[in-house]
Amino acid sequence: MSLPVVLAGVAGLFVGSFLNVCIHRLPLRTSVVSPRSRCPACRTILPPIDLIPVFSYLWLRGRCRSCGVGIGLRYPLVELATAVAFGAAVARWGSSLAALQAAVFLSLLIVACLTDLQTGIIPNRVTVPGTIVGLALAAVGPASLVTAVLGVIAGGGTLLLLALISRGGMGGGDIKLGALMGAFLGWPHIGVALAVAFLAGGVAGMGLMAAQRKRRRDEITFGPFLGAGAVAALFWGASILLWYGGILRPS
Ligand SMILES: [Zn+2]
Repeated sequence: MSLPVVLAGVAGLFVGSFLNVCIHRLPLRTSVVSPRSRCPACRTILPPIDLIPVFSYLWLRGRCRSCGVGIGLRYPLVELATAVAFGAAVARWGSSLAALQAAVFLSLLIVACLTDLQTGIIPNRVTVPGTIVGLALAAVGPASLVTAVLGVIAGGGTLLLLALISRGGMGGGDIKLGALMGAFLGWPHIGVALAVAFLAGGVAGMGLMAAQRKRRRDEITFGPFLGAGAVAALFWGASILLWYGGILRPS
């Protein structure tokens, strides 16, 4: 591993620590910068030594120093996932604007998917500013703003249409997450993301129905599937499009 990749990974650990705060506080509609981090059980303000990503969790064996209440495994996992995401972005695109775009995008996806899994809601405070940042980065980057705007329309529009057809099967948060993904991925990569998300969501839904864990009319949390589709489109979108084009035009 090269030094920039390792440095990106370390930065990812600390950003992941902040993403944990966002995942915890955004659904509560409280500030993500103040007050300082406390144990949710005993309200003790955590000393800086307990805020070191991953290591504090291991050192404290997953328990609060003062009251001993268990700290969710989510915390170190989100930090590790963010570290891997940042490392992968720099490994793929070097120290470039494209890597920064990918890192910002992946951070937003982590917060959106985790809040959706925990509360069933993807907060507007993630998707609305996220979409604007995605468009702004597209405007200064090599990909054109037009591609990004088309991506927003395609991503948000497709999910809005599905929400209207399914009458509530798809939430407003999913629609806005689709728009955010379109801003970062642009057209036609957003199409790849949606196709992968629907495929994965469909397979998982049928699996759950077969296992009789869900009935046909139950809602499934779709955010994580959109997130998985977005990751696939971000890293392998071009290859998937080439492969799909090859199927359409057999030589
Ligand atoms: Zn405590």
